Amino acid sequence: MAHIVIIEDEPDLAMGLRDNLEFEKNTVAHSATGVEGVALVAQQRTDLVLLDIMLPDIDGFEVCRRLREQGYTMPIIILSARSQEIDKVRGLELGADDYVTKPFSLRELLARVHAALRRSDAAGATPAKKTVFKLGDRQVDLVRQKIIAPTEEMPLGYYETEILRVLYDRAGEAVPRAELLEKIWGVGVYPADRTVDNHIVSLRRKIEVDAKNPRHILTAHAVGYKLVL
Ligand code: CA
Repeated sequence: MAHIVIIEDEPDLAMGLRDNLEFEKNTVAHSATGVEGVALVAQQRTDLVLLDIMLPDIDGFEVCRRLREQGYTMPIIILSARSQEIDKVRGLELGADDYVTKPFSLRELLARVHAALRRSDAAGATPAKKTVFKLGDRQVDLVRQKIIAPTEEMPLGYYETEILRVLYDRAGEAVPRAELLEKIWGVGVYPADRTVDNHIVSLRRKIEVDAKNPRHILTAHAVGYKLVL
């Protein structure tokens, strides 16, 4: 079962796709415009996007570019009435994974959807995961390993990045220190007692406006740490 967003302005086609994907036990959200489609992806877990090119507002290429720019890595399959080679290249350059030319058979499209979901599973990718997100006035970029503040950019070390990644995956929950150690340093590895705490101190200096009164990386007493978005 996957969470799929369809961005398509032809109601019959969108409805047909939705019915078939839901019949296969997927959950489906639909938008008829590009801007709303990008917002839909941001609002919920999304494992795959089916994306039309000719939309009433921004086109599918722009949707694709915005999603990738925002750090989303889930597969995007472009649906297009255009068949020119140049468009295919453009879609792929902007980060689409596959391209289906209209009119297509439903069986073919569903086969492509299954293949894309299998690939992203196999890649170990957690497809819905964002790699860029905001904390207050700062932007966190887990791929480029940096914090972008209004007036400066600060690099993140490997362990800082991984700590943020684990906390972000569980945002709002207290993550025990032991779990951070196990996930990041590995089972049976015991770095110095204060290792995690030291990285948290450093992270707070980069992320918090006032590191002494953190608003994003909170201490969950006797447990560990919690990220508040
Ligand atoms: Ca269209």
